[in-house]
Amino acid sequence: MAVEIVQTTAMPPAIQQVLDREFHVHRLWEASDRNALLKQVAPNVRGMVTSGGVGANRALIEALPRLEMISSFGVGYDSIDIDCAKERGVTVTNTPDVLTDDVADTAMALLLAMMRRIPQGDQFVRQGQWPKAKFPLTDKLGGKKMGVLGLGRIGQAIARRAEPFNVEISYFGPRRKADIPWRYYDNLVAMAKDVDILMIACPGGKETEGLVNQAVIDALGPKGYVVNIARGSVVVEPALVTALVEGKLAGAGLDVFADEPNVPEALWKLDSVTLAPHVGSATHATRQAMGDLVLKNILAFFAGQPVLTKVV
Ligand code: NAP
Repeated sequence: MAVEIVQTTAMPPAIQQVLDREFHVHRLWEASDRNALLKQVAPNVRGMVTSGGVGANRALIEALPRLEMISSFGVGYDSIDIDCAKERGVTVTNTPDVLTDDVADTAMALLLAMMRRIPQGDQFVRQGQWPKAKFPLTDKLGGKKMGVLGLGRIGQAIARRAEPFNVEISYFGPRRKADIPWRYYDNLVAMAKDVDILMIACPGGKETEGLVNQAVIDALGPKGYVVNIARGSVVVEPALVTALVEGKLAGAGLDVFADEPNVPEALWKLDSVTLAPHVGSATHATRQAMGDLVLKNILAFFAGQPVLTKVV
């Protein structure tokens, strides 16, 4: 008998095919009455496939008394109640490393697009304005200082990409890292005062909620830029929006927001801002690699083997 699992959200087709072949999958995201389906299948469900976006809250984990493992699509697990999983002895896995390059590429793309006004230049050409006017001058990346908030896998990949652009790197995090050549700050406001660009690459969740607050925004000042490819929750979004609207920050490149997919309308009109719909890892190759890891983890677990990328 196939192991019964619940799946909270759609997976890439090739991944779904394997899940459907190997497991008895209950598709929560397609159910007309999600709670009724959950209640009906709960006594037999031993596994869950979810994503960083959808997660698994306490109510969902506790609704499944025989749940043994959660295989999540995404590296961030702030939307999964890890305390509850621990209490219940549920194994949780994520998909680190395979997405690092794409997310770092996205961060650099947002940074350059914002500073050099690439989206506006594109519109300028398409709307036939080039023969009539000159496109305004923009800001230079080379020579700027970038402070990375959260120098983990993605933060380091961004820093390594930024260095050849002649950008000076420093970082803030819970601890100084051994064998890292870049300057360490144990105070985020102090780092924000010293840099031109704040690159946000730490995890979401309670520990980092609102870290980028009014004091950090003020320290960056009207020549400062923010790029966020981490989580919307890390930033006090109303303070960021107000600073951008009032020109108290030079610009922002944002892939993530406090209440996705709802993006504050005040940002839509600002030339100083480049917006992306949470697409840091969204390439065919990387989404396939993330899906493969979701599969490897859940297949290993139910085959009695060690999982590959364990969170808890
Ligand atoms: P990671 O390797 O675990 O790196 C996280 C870094 O943040 C670590 O260096 C960690 O420091 C630091 N950190 C932890 N708590 C902190 C705090 N309170 N203040 C400052 N820094 C803190 O994770 P990753 O693979 O680089 O991923 C980072 C995050 O990127 C994910 O959690 C996810 O939210 C986000 N992400 C976004 C996208 C997207 O599509 N936009 C895609 C993938 C991931 P220590 O090393 O000292 O613990």
